[in-house]
Amino acid sequence: MRMYDIIRKKREGGKLTREEMGFFVKGVTDGSIPDYQTSAMLMAIYFQNLDSRETADMTDFMAKSGDMADLSSIIGFKVDKHSTGGVGDKTTLIIAPTVAACGVKVAKMSGRGLGHTGGTIDKLESIPGFKTDISTNNFFDIVNRIGVAVIGQSADLAPADKKLYALRDVTATVENIPLIAASIMSKKIASGADGIVLDVTTGSGAFMKTRDEAVELAKVMVDIGEKVGRKVAALITDMDTPLGCAIGNSLEVIEAVQTLKGNGPKDLMTVCRELAANMLMLAGKGDISECRDMVDEAISSGRALDTLCEMVTAQGGDARYIRDTSLFEKAKICYQLIADQSGYIAAMKTDEIGMASMMLGAGRETKESSIDFAAGIKLYKKTGDKVEKGDVIAELFTNLDTAEAAGKRLLDALTFADIAPAECPLVLARVTASGVEYFE
Ligand code: URA
Repeated sequence: MRMYDIIRKKREGGKLTREEMGFFVKGVTDGSIPDYQTSAMLMAIYFQNLDSRETADMTDFMAKSGDMADLSSIIGFKVDKHSTGGVGDKTTLIIAPTVAACGVKVAKMSGRGLGHTGGTIDKLESIPGFKTDISTNNFFDIVNRIGVAVIGQSADLAPADKKLYALRDVTATVENIPLIAASIMSKKIASGADGIVLDVTTGSGAFMKTRDEAVELAKVMVDIGEKVGRKVAALITDMDTPLGCAIGNSLEVIEAVQTLKGNGPKDLMTVCRELAANMLMLAGKGDISECRDMVDEAISSGRALDTLCEMVTAQGGDARYIRDTSLFEKAKICYQLIADQSGYIAAMKTDEIGMASMMLGAGRETKESSIDFAAGIKLYKKTGDKVEKGDVIAELFTNLDTAEAAGKRLLDALTFADIAPAECPLVLARVTASGVEYFE
């Protein structure tokens, strides 16, 4: 078999056999296929697409390109959740302990932030002492005892995806549904959970800019998961504005704690409640309304917050910071962004707001960059809010000299109008093996 022939076949719109797909993914993983041929192949796929059988084959080979986590030593049904990325997305910090407090195990492998999107591992590491690189046995033990643990993805989890993603990033081939689906699902399948809830974000802060694209991606991912015997449900959620009000690592931990105390922003709580209820439903805990009630009870009773504290302690972190978030170190500079006009905020370029937060030191430009846990943004006004000239729109926290420039970027990301924009639902649709339910 020759890579040249496989590229040519895909370029002409042919369907790759399982053997050809295996040859491609194995060659990417062991380095026998040079980057220029892989890049050409990715571009051929970008234009010609993969059908559902080719996408499932690609995902299967990518998942098996490295370690396949064996979670069998964790007792009971294991459920995982994955977001396709966003700004201010601290849902895992809220959902994982909540679901565990309802009696369902969450053995979660998470990633770091890159570009305008944040990552759960960075957020957790803002808690002094918290370790995300614990041994597998310790990880299993914590999940068995407490019900939840969150670790970083091991270097050998789906290594084919690491190589392919890095090349997609520099060859303008990221935005392709089969390639995104194979990338995400290969990691989820290799992570070993029995049930997976996918949070497929849509809007200006997401990869999928429209609801219909997001539904299409969700359908492909659900189909892949079901083909390998996992239970999968996907929620299409709004990322046209940042989720909640805090962006930046320790700021997001603080907001997650407020939410677990029942005082979080309404949009964040709504999305978390639906995601957590869907995780419980996949685990067979009841119908959606029973599962929503369980989520509400876990939060109002304080059990979800207690579970987070137990997990933090078990992973070496100082849980006093969760009980009393005023202990988190603050950035030296707090810059208030003042409205220079009155009106309604009609739209926000959410990815640009993520970039503004990165300029403050909260994100990474490259994988090697270090981040400032205290840096970030607190939004006081979001889409739909009325603003009077002179109001504080946001506070920007940093230890750098970038506050003014980041503030300008944030202001440029806002569109003002004389009338309030129409309200949109936060959860737009639910996709399962039985079909698509729209919530509009
Ligand atoms: N997240 C991933 O892990 N992969 C993609 O291709 C896009 C988002």
